[in-house]
Amino acid sequence: MSADGTPSDWALDRAHVLHPWTNFGPFEAEGSLVIERGEGCWLWDAEGRRYFDAVGGMWCTNLGLGRADLADAIADQVRTLAFSNSFVDMANPPSARLAAKLAALAPGDLNRVHFTTCGSTAVDTAWRMARYYHAARGEPGRTHVIARENSYHGSTYIGQSIGKRDGDRVPEFLYRTEGIHHVTCPHLRTAPDGMAEAAFTDWLVAEFEAKIEEVGAERIAAFFAEPIQASGGVIVPPKDYLRRMAEVCRRNGILFVADEVVTAFGRIGHWFASEAEFGVVPDIITCAKGLTSGYLPLGAVIFSDRIWQAMAEGGARWFTSGFTYSGHPVACRAALEVIGIMEREEILAHVEEVGAVFEEACFGLAEMPTVGEVRGRRLMICIDNVADKATGRTFPDEVNIGKRVSDACEADGLLVRPIGHMNVMSPPLVMTSDDALRVADTLGRALRRVA
Ligand code: PLP
Repeated sequence: MSADGTPSDWALDRAHVLHPWTNFGPFEAEGSLVIERGEGCWLWDAEGRRYFDAVGGMWCTNLGLGRADLADAIADQVRTLAFSNSFVDMANPPSARLAAKLAALAPGDLNRVHFTTCGSTAVDTAWRMARYYHAARGEPGRTHVIARENSYHGSTYIGQSIGKRDGDRVPEFLYRTEGIHHVTCPHLRTAPDGMAEAAFTDWLVAEFEAKIEEVGAERIAAFFAEPIQASGGVIVPPKDYLRRMAEVCRRNGILFVADEVVTAFGRIGHWFASEAEFGVVPDIITCAKGLTSGYLPLGAVIFSDRIWQAMAEGGARWFTSGFTYSGHPVACRAALEVIGIMEREEILAHVEEVGAVFEEACFGLAEMPTVGEVRGRRLMICIDNVADKATGRTFPDEVNIGKRVSDACEADGLLVRPIGHMNVMSPPLVMTSDDALRVADTLGRALRRVA
């Protein structure tokens, strides 16, 4: 209750809002942290307390908050053209220019763009597009997809079915299982018989080939993969893994869909991670988040000329998918401005520099007694907490270790994200090297207190 007797925003939120992934027990006990203001990497809550946001909103506030240049561009676009229908016979300048810019930045012949409202709807659309593409080419039997254990591909029916993290699957929700297959997560630590990297890669590729054989290549439309599994705990795959998986796809006529909702737009120092970091030119890239630096909701499916041609020339010749807000002029203008700022301020080079400092400082925490593994690359890092370092035994669920570490950080003005027994960070790309060192130091002190 506020001083004047009106309910606080915290009370209103608690009484009326169903948040994504609400865990009802803790929510009833604590409610949510109400954030009122943001500037750069910092957030302020309703009581005026300040937090460094090492979560980057949700892997997305890449350029930091409160930027006047972005606010001006968005305001200007609202005054000029706040909305325009983007269904087939209507277009608007920001969406046309943004599509051209994305085509220029994307690898290979990924010159075509379908705008969506977020990452989930991009994944959903890519799933449809893959099937449409094959049907249009005369292979309507290719309806199955293969994805990986421990992946997250969004929250639509199909996104949650393609993704597969243990914690996400509750029996009360509906998931599609028909035509969706999963192969092993490429986490070296969990390799069978403690295999080394090269042997594990061979094993993963052989498992993928066996799965294709079992399902039948002629029935498989696409393989979905995050270049680095993000919400699954920042799993960086073995060096050659993605390239070899892509080769298998190519040999079997299976489309490679890189879900770059987290990894695109600078998170690990590249516009797109698949080619620059892992040597793969995908057939389809899904992206969102950093595209607008979180200022407005927007997603995109960037796909090859080959897919466009097949859809345009074969079958029904009618792509019956899209959203009222596809190509929203204000969201697209925000994205154009974000990309312009990234170019002018050389953000990718900055990520290389600050990312190296952040990696080194965070990897230093691996020595701590309750840290089983530190994983990640540049500005996406995960601390995997363990109860027993020698055996790798995790804490029992009721200890809620990830949340306890996050709470300890929050008490020191730092936000890190708990995911089960892990803590994940994806700070704004614009943070400084001093910020990076301070984040690792504060997290280290929190880990010591909680241990
Ligand atoms: N794909 C990946 C790899 C993600 O990490 C996410 C969200 O975290 C999504 C898809 C879904 O994006 P959105 O929440 O914008 O729908």
